[in-house]
Amino acid sequence: MQTEHHADVAIVGAGPAGSACVMALKESGLRIAWIDKSTFPRDKVCGDAIPSNVQRVLKQIDPLLNERFLNQFTEKLTIEGCRFVSPDLSSFDLTFTTKGHASKRIDFDHFLFDMANEVNSSVTHFLKAEIKTLAVSSSGAKIELHDGNIIHAKMIVGCDGTNSFVRKKLAKPFVQKHENIAAVRAYYSNVADLSHNLLEIHIVKNYMPGYFWIFPMKNNAANVGFGMVNKYIAQSSTDLKIALKEIVSSERFSQRFKDATTDGVISGYGLACGGRKNPISGERFLLCGDAASLINPATGEGIGNAMISGRIAAQHLISCFEKQQFNASFNHSYDKMVYKKLLKDLRIQRFLQKLTADREWLINFALKKVSRHEFVREQVRKFF
Ligand SMILES: Cc1cc2nc3c(=O)[nH]c(=O)nc-3n(C[C@H](O)[C@H](O)[C@H](O)COP(=O)(O)OP(=O)(O)OC[C@H]3O[C@@H](n4cnc5c(N)ncnc54)[C@H](O)[C@@H]3O)c2cc1C
Repeated sequence: MQTEHHADVAIVGAGPAGSACVMALKESGLRIAWIDKSTFPRDKVCGDAIPSNVQRVLKQIDPLLNERFLNQFTEKLTIEGCRFVSPDLSSFDLTFTTKGHASKRIDFDHFLFDMANEVNSSVTHFLKAEIKTLAVSSSGAKIELHDGNIIHAKMIVGCDGTNSFVRKKLAKPFVQKHENIAAVRAYYSNVADLSHNLLEIHIVKNYMPGYFWIFPMKNNAANVGFGMVNKYIAQSSTDLKIALKEIVSSERFSQRFKDATTDGVISGYGLACGGRKNPISGERFLLCGDAASLINPATGEGIGNAMISGRIAAQHLISCFEKQQFNASFNHSYDKMVYKKLLKDLRIQRFLQKLTADREWLINFALKKVSRHEFVREQVRKFF
């Protein structure tokens, strides 16, 4: 049976980008149709490092939201820095200016989703909802779901991740697919010498260009993963799951994993990296987070940028409705705001990633330099 619904804004996706957007619309009075193909709690393949800019975004939306995150969300570890280790085992520990966190995404995303629903009561949910068709015209947007529901909205916000349906239907194709990253991760318990407030990123000989990580989680668990830029995966025919298993059992790491246990599940997904000025809006739509390709290419972090873009989208939506403007040229100011905030750092990170990708000597050299010079360390710290 077909049921028609009317909303001001349809937000597709309830990950960090979607939740930030819903939270930032809390006082707007706009009627929101919030669509996700999952129900919550739902898992998301990730390294589970929650960057410190998450706290900044929550504070900007409302300082109380950040207080709640810090005081009420208990499924997190506090992370004080990151250890970088080069192929020749040179290493340095970077202390973050603002502490970050680590939390399984199944818990973190659920917390954000619940908090967004508590603070914004103008939401109608469509969960476990697959989109069948999506169309925009000068009079509005229409989304047809597989369960028969039809949603009419004035604006659509695509927060639906790397393989965004909204982007594929409405935006011009993005150019950098081969520059994106693919990564796999598994959960382990009891990894030896785990520092419980430090992320570890290792560049491993014979598995370059790629990065292996060990991120501590609550209860003596660790998120262990390996990622590589798509271009190099294709060139070297690397199987990421096999590479992860080989690294864990290699001479360099086998002692640390000797008594570690895992459920054996290795999951993988793509990282939609930023650094190019792709069009992220158009007639009656905006894209946020991974749908807009905003992951930091060097660190692989995307949660914070997803939330930043979700907040900016909300700000833009409010002015769309104030001015009753929903066309592509008006929406282009959203692109400008997002790229003003994020593009410079994304471009620097993309440059650094390319520069160091398969230059083992450079990584060894750079890590030695960084570990010795406070000035260089300060420059690196700015990225975290
Ligand atoms: C292996 C890996 C490791 C990573 N590690 C880190 C890390 O340690 N730290 C970090 O900051 N970032 C990390 N990232 C990046 C981070 O996961 C993303 O940047 C972040 O999840 C983006 O949030 P989002 O809200 O844009 O999208 P998502 O979190 O992907 O949320 C998208 C939502 O949309 C829903 N959806 C998708 N398609 C549809 C559809 N057709 N209809 C309805 N709903 C739909 C999904 O169910 C989901 O709930 C990692 C990514 C990967 C793959």
